[in-house]
Formats: sequence, structure tokens, C-alpha cells
Amino acid sequence: MDLFTLTAAQLIRLIASGKASVKEIADAVRSRLKETNGKTNAFIRSYADELVRSGPCPIPIGIKDNICVEGREVTCASRILKGFHSPYDAGVIEKVRFSGGILLGGLNMDEFAFGSSSESSSYGIIRNPWDLKRVPGGSSGGSAAAVASGAAVWALGSDTGGSIRQPASFCGVVGLKPTYGRVSRYGLIAFGSSLDQIGPLTKDVTDCATLLKIIAGYDERDSTSVAVGVPDFTKALQRDVKGLKIGIPKEYFIEGIQPEVLTAVQAAVDFFKKEGAIIQEISLPHTEYAVATYYIVATAEASSNLARFDGVEYGLRSLPDKARKSGIVDMYEETRAKGFGKEAKRRIMLGTYVLSAGYYDAYYLRAQKARTLIKEDLDQAFLDCDIILSPTAPTTAFMIGEKVNDPLSMYLSDIFTIPANLAGIPALSIPCGFDANRLPIGLQLMAAPFAEEKLLATAFAYEQAHSWHLERAVI
Ligand code: GLN
Repeated sequence: MDLFTLTAAQLIRLIASGKASVKEIADAVRSRLKETNGKTNAFIRSYADELVRSGPCPIPIGIKDNICVEGREVTCASRILKGFHSPYDAGVIEKVRFSGGILLGGLNMDEFAFGSSSESSSYGIIRNPWDLKRVPGGSSGGSAAAVASGAAVWALGSDTGGSIRQPASFCGVVGLKPTYGRVSRYGLIAFGSSLDQIGPLTKDVTDCATLLKIIAGYDERDSTSVAVGVPDFTKALQRDVKGLKIGIPKEYFIEGIQPEVLTAVQAAVDFFKKEGAIIQEISLPHTEYAVATYYIVATAEASSNLARFDGVEYGLRSLPDKARKSGIVDMYEETRAKGFGKEAKRRIMLGTYVLSAGYYDAYYLRAQKARTLIKEDLDQAFLDCDIILSPTAPTTAFMIGEKVNDPLSMYLSDIFTIPANLAGIPALSIPCGFDANRLPIGLQLMAAPFAEEKLLATAFAYEQAHSWHLERAVI
């Protein structure tokens, strides 16, 4: 049996019974990483020198390259951060180390987490382990591809508009975006500060619950961190969904969804019904504004967050041709022109535009109002249901290059994942089938703020009655 195919729960049992050592496991996963990375390009760099520490969960874990690790280069897959070494560990990294986690390396991603396909990285595109001609989703494409190929047992990703859930769906793994404030953003390089959350990507729901428990918890260094207790999420996992109220939002079942995705999601609904859950159609009337709202709020925050990358404090500094130009403004311009890729520039321009005098009221302020309406739709829905169920993405993994020159169609692939970020609620994606090309399909479940236990329990009940999560990509 190949150790890299196992879940953390299985590996921990092997260690406890003396059948495998922590070192054997770390070696097996590291050699799998070496074997597959030439094909997937999931990792930007690996840490061969990480120490194996003691702790309850000595699990090899990959880190998305927008999460700071002390002494390591952290780049957000952007040229502008090349050579930047973090002086400190992110809050989640401290916690992972404390649990005994073995840091494998920095995972590739869309530049600054802008994207849904992992094609905007300055370290090259990432490939989907299920079909190397296809994208793994994005922006945490490296995180999902690493877990799906066995190059990491666990991965950390970040989710601003779907960046954990959509790649999890495309790569057939479990991905969870926690409630805003549940996991510390200290040391996460900010994209959209009011939307960003770090979360786990794992092979199954049990591992997801275990990793969430490790990384969750109040952190005074993140002013939006919420002081709520961290339950043992694994204890909440159970198979009984009798009486659980599941809402199906009619606005999510729109034209353009791949028929196989619809069939798989419908089968999941039928399963819950058969198990005694109460299925009810609900309405989230402002859904149609979610994508537009997100791309105003997220780009506005991104343009402001990215202003700090100017060649002075971090990474790349590009000096202009002395004969032609001089002065600090020229240095800023030169550095930013060379350092940022095309999508980053597009976002900075869009975000600056919607915040500028004369347009602020028409775009940014309006988007904030629409955001409130979208959140109120969800608040209202959760008065009468426990879980909201939908597809994670309208399609399975698309071809590399298919959407790269069509930003609008790329933005639309986030249509079902964005509302959870705008509302700050927890949401996850679990595998729920395959299409005719044997590409994984993802099921999204959402819950009220801080209802992760209910969310994970519902996902667990589904997972235990199916075997999708046991399938592995052959690569
Ligand atoms: N795909 C979305 C975007 O391009 C979401 C990205 C994310 O969640 N980081 O903004």
C-alpha cells in the first residue's frame, strides 16, 4: 500500500500501531511530490530541510504561497515578490507546527489569488491530476492538485471568492472556507481583506475537520478574528441527517450548468431526502448581483492592498534606465510594470477606478449596499434551514487556455461560491460524482456563521454513504 494515498486519520492510526514511522510517511510523500511535480507544477518550492517535530498530527502539509512561513520565500506566485523572505510565521503556520505538522513547501497559485484556473502564476500553469490537459481550478490550484495527486496529505488554501472550493471541486478533494473570523488572517498576504479566509484542502471530511480544528481560533493579531471557542469538529461528525432542513436555492439552478453536474447534485438531494432530511426550495433573490458585487468589492480591496508593493520594502525593485528617467516615482512605475502580471494589473485598474472620486458612489458604495442585500437573503434563509445545497461550480475542470482570454466567462465560474464570501458564512465542497470524462464534480454545502460543525456533519453523512472520496487520480 502506498502511504501517500492515505488520509491523515489512517496515517495517524498506522503511527499509533507502530506500522509506519513519521519519517517513513514524510519520505513517501516527499518522493511522491518529486515524482508528480514535473507533471502538475503544484509546488513552487519544497523544503527538504524541515524538521520533523513531535505533536499529535505529524502530517505532511503543503502551504499556499500567500501564507507566510518564517525564513522562507513567499511570493504569491508573483514576480513582484521574488526574493521576499518572510520574517515571521502566519498564525495558521504556528498552529500547524504546534500540532507536529511537516511543512512540505510553497504551493503554486494564481498570482495574488486572482483567478479561477491557476493560469496566472508567474511560475507557470498548474495541471489537473485527473487530466493534465485541464486546469485544476483556482486560485488554490496547487493546493488541490497536490492533495489529489498525493504530493501532500493536507494543504492550506485561501478563499476570497471560491478559491478553495472551486479547485477542490475540479480536483475531487474536500475544501472548506471557514466563517469569516474563524481562522486568523495574520500572515496571509491580503487580497480582499473583508472576504479572505484560510482553509483546509484534504482527501475527506474527517481530515477536513481535523485540520480545521488545528488552524481555527482567536488571534489578537488579526483585528477581524472572532473570539469563539474551537470545538472538536471531528466529534461532530455523524451520519444522521433526519429532520435536517436543507434549502435548495432556485436561483442557483440556472441555464449553462453542465448536465452531468446537475444530475450529480440532484442525486445528492435525493440521497438526503431518502435519509430523512427535509428538502425545501428557497429563494435568494439578489443572487444575480453577486458576481458584479464581488468584482467591485474584491478589486477595490485588492488595489488598496497591493499598493504596498512598490519596490521599497518587499521583493523586486526595478530601477529605470538612468539616462532616461530618475526619481522614486519612476522606480515605483518600473517595479510595478515589471512585477505584476496581466490579471493583477487588470484588478488594480478596476479597483482603483471603482474607488475614484466621481465613481465611488456609483460603483463601490452601491456594491456595498448590494452586498448587504445578498447577506440578508442568506440570513433570512438560515432562519428556516440548516444547510443550503448547490453545485460548487457550473462545470467540471475546463481545458487549459479555454477561458484565459475571456475574463468575463472566467469570473462567471465563481457564481455559486462568491455569495458565501460576501456574507462571511462557512461553505465547503465535497466530491459528488464524475462526468463522462471522469472528471470530478463538486457539491457545495453552506451553513450559518460558525455552524461548521453542522456543515461538516452533513458532509460526513453524505461522504460515508458514497465512495467518490476513495477514488484517486492516476498520475
Ligand atoms: N476566482 C475568484 C477571483 O478571481 C476568487 C479568487 C479567490 O477566492 N482568491 O477573484
